[in-house]
Amino acid sequence: MPNGFASEIQGIVCFIGVGSNVDDPASRCCEAVQRVSAVRGIKVLRTSSLYRTEPVGFIEQERFVNAVIEIRTVLSPRELLNDLRAVEDGMGRVRGPKWGPRIIDLDILLYGQEIIQDDALIVPHPELHKRRFVLTPLCEIASYVIHPAFGISIHGLMNRLGDESRIHIHEARGKLCLI
Ligand code: ADP
Ligand code: MG
Repeated sequence: MPNGFASEIQGIVCFIGVGSNVDDPASRCCEAVQRVSAVRGIKVLRTSSLYRTEPVGFIEQERFVNAVIEIRTVLSPRELLNDLRAVEDGMGRVRGPKWGPRIIDLDILLYGQEIIQDDALIVPHPELHKRRFVLTPLCEIASYVIHPAFGISIHGLMNRLGDESRIHIHEARGKLCLI
């Protein structure tokens, strides 16, 4: 196999949830994707559309913008988590209440087909199958992917979803900011 090709297919395909509801959330999501694509060891492969969603939990706050990106990475799960936290910190994320306002939230939804459960990291993300604002953008770019713990595709999880919250496309795919 030619070297170039071999190096292109190194690493694990992962899906990252991107969300913001502070300070022009759509721009913050785009900025985050660009920052993630600049991380050594991460290549952003695809991005979903940006979706505008109703907040869960504290209803009285700016609405969220959410998206999902597909990446390929040679980083370990913990390295990936640390680098995503560094991107969050670099964008000025202050750690507040769960479900509260946040300038940027980057969550590891899937790391290949791995199942990880330790103090700092749970993968697949424990909210993935419960939330329309995660499943809708994930289904847009990865409907065929199997959730490794349930053995059900993302499309199948969408069909089983009880969450009735509203979500609509804010900016269509392709506009999400890849340089
Ligand atoms: P949340 O995303 O749940 O609203 P935070 O972004 O503040 O909350 O994350 C809190 C902690 O969740 C992180 O410090 C991280 O250690 C942990 N965590 C566990 N699993 C994951 C995951 N799959 N992706 C991102 N963070 C995770
Ligand atoms: Mg998070």
